Amino acid sequence: MRSPIRGAMWVIGYILIALAPLILSLVQLDPGRGFWVNLSVAAGFVGLSLMGLQFLLAARSVQVTGVFGPDVLLRFHRQMTVLIAVLIFAHPIILFVWDSRFLALLNVVTAPARAKFAVVSVLLLTVLIVTSVWRRRLRLSYQVWQALHTVLAVLIVVTALVHVLMIGYYVDQPWERALWIVYSAVFIWIGVWVRVIRPALRWRRRWRVVSVRPQPAGASTVTLELVDPATYGADGFRFDAGQYAWIRTGANPFSIDYHPFSFSSSAERPDRVEFTIKAEHGFTTTVGELEPGDTVYLDGPWGHLSMDRNEGPGFVFLAAGVGVTPMISMLATLADRGDTRPCWLIVGNRHEDEIICADEIAELQQRMPNLTVVHAISRPGPEWTGVRGHISAEVLDEVLPHDRARLQYFLCASDRVMDTAQTALADLGVPPTHVHAERFAMA
Ligand SMILES: Cc1cc2nc3c(=O)[nH]c(=O)nc-3n(C[C@H](O)[C@H](O)[C@H](O)COP(=O)(O)OP(=O)(O)OC[C@H]3O[C@@H](n4cnc5c(N)ncnc54)[C@H](O)[C@@H]3O)c2cc1C
Repeated sequence: MRSPIRGAMWVIGYILIALAPLILSLVQLDPGRGFWVNLSVAAGFVGLSLMGLQFLLAARSVQVTGVFGPDVLLRFHRQMTVLIAVLIFAHPIILFVWDSRFLALLNVVTAPARAKFAVVSVLLLTVLIVTSVWRRRLRLSYQVWQALHTVLAVLIVVTALVHVLMIGYYVDQPWERALWIVYSAVFIWIGVWVRVIRPALRWRRRWRVVSVRPQPAGASTVTLELVDPATYGADGFRFDAGQYAWIRTGANPFSIDYHPFSFSSSAERPDRVEFTIKAEHGFTTTVGELEPGDTVYLDGPWGHLSMDRNEGPGFVFLAAGVGVTPMISMLATLADRGDTRPCWLIVGNRHEDEIICADEIAELQQRMPNLTVVHAISRPGPEWTGVRGHISAEVLDEVLPHDRARLQYFLCASDRVMDTAQTALADLGVPPTHVHAERFAMA
């Protein structure tokens, strides 16, 4: 956590917002309905507030993300879904177990509207969870899943809110009603902020393509410049080496389809930024066809993977495949600053002709006598004289200096390579607080 005090304040705020409906209901507890009904209502109320808070966690607010980091918030967002599911399913189940007459509320033909809204909300929540947990097995593309997830999330909260207000239990007092009105207003504001105001700001601060140069392994490096640098004020656009941004091409900044890419250029030259993008199946396959002058929208910078946020007497950059991009950004920045601290770049690839940013690495080697580069090739050609195989504990033990525990480490690769490297570094006595990782697979 970057600032523990601010972090603690956000955590306390989160808990208070989650429990507020419960606390307010206790002001005028209605014992007449009995413990189990009140417990069921409590579970429903807290579940609903937590669902509203899921929007805040996913909203990429600079204030919250700046403290915890986008990857931590995403993991927390997922973990909270488990608690939300338990509370929201417990809400009706407690009633059904306590008094089977409540089962009649499941009859969508005869049940009152307030119950129908509840049933719809719980069914939609089930669909949201199933499509998120089993997205790949259901063969849902990321784009379809993202649109579905957004629409379902809004519908779930709206139908649940209508259910609560129609029942009128523990929402009939002015302060109780006020609470749900404030919650609803904040919920709507987050939606307007994320989906309307921020995209409009991005439209004003749009970038344009300067050039596209091909890279090995089906990747391309895109160079962008701001259409109007003044839109970022006197300081101009700034990012920390190693950070990433969400980008989108085309005319419409209001779409939800943005993709995260690490800057692969120096933070000392923010007027022209570069992204190196490897073609997958969707958006990334269109990047190579971009033309100079094409419009690009950029939401960022984000992320904590930066040597400027993790100072040390030297740096080790460990990557595989396209995971080399944030490392190029950090090394190019150190080179531009003339920083002479010792650096190691250890890169894994399948073939020696698939090394993404090979030219940039060679140029950095020229510029930085303090840089040691090690390429590990898992399926090398007969001519290859470098490391043969994957990045392993043996390779790291051989390459890293004796005072390796004092250095700062930056990792970006596939999950398998990252897990191997993190275990190997721990075995080699590197403190986990010196190891900083970025995983490209978010969902
Ligand atoms: C912090 C971060 C930095 C990254 N930096 C780079 C980089 O420098 N260069 C690079 O080539 N790739 C990078 N990636 C990966 C890149 O975002 C995905 O490869 C890209 O979004 C795939 O788009 P597609 O439409 O071609 O994907 P598809 O082929 O449709 O999907 C492939 C996979 O990419 C992921 N993905 C797809 N769309 C999105 C999205 N909108 N948001 C998040 N993930 C998505 C999903 O896990 C999906 O399974 C980074 C990812 C993250 C999280």
